Amino acid sequence: MTKDDARDVIKSRGLRVTMPRLAVVRALAAANVPLSYREVHDRIADAAWDPSTTYRNLVKLRDAGIAPVVSRVEGIDRYAIADAREGQHRHPHFLCEDCGLLACLPADAVASTLAHGPWAASLQQATVQLRGTCPACLEG
Ligand SMILES: [Zn+2]
Ligand SMILES: [Zn+2]
Repeated sequence: MTKDDARDVIKSRGLRVTMPRLAVVRALAAANVPLSYREVHDRIADAAWDPSTTYRNLVKLRDAGIAPVVSRVEGIDRYAIADAREGQHRHPHFLCEDCGLLACLPADAVASTLAHGPWAASLQQATVQLRGTCPACLEG
């Protein structure tokens, strides 16, 4: 996501554009998996502010609907940019207990049940959390 795109995303939800907000939106957009606030902060290489500033801005973006929490494991919230294609991350997520990777999995039987079953109309957000050891760790 370019700086201009990030600026538009922030403005479109009525928030003021600031350096930390731009950086957070771009870090989340660049990752193809949901990130915790620590992971977001670590990916902002040129951050001249401390992690609590990153956190405060992430919460602002969350409250504005730009970066919803899509996974919550053991008290760690992970955020992703809301976009039409990905919806609200209504697919299952897989947490590797070895390396801590959180991966988005393709919609499977669980997700399609929610999408087409009698509960589909009621559903606004799904959090399906699977846990185990990721393929890379199994190989290693
Ligand atoms: Zn792993
Ligand atoms: Zn996801």
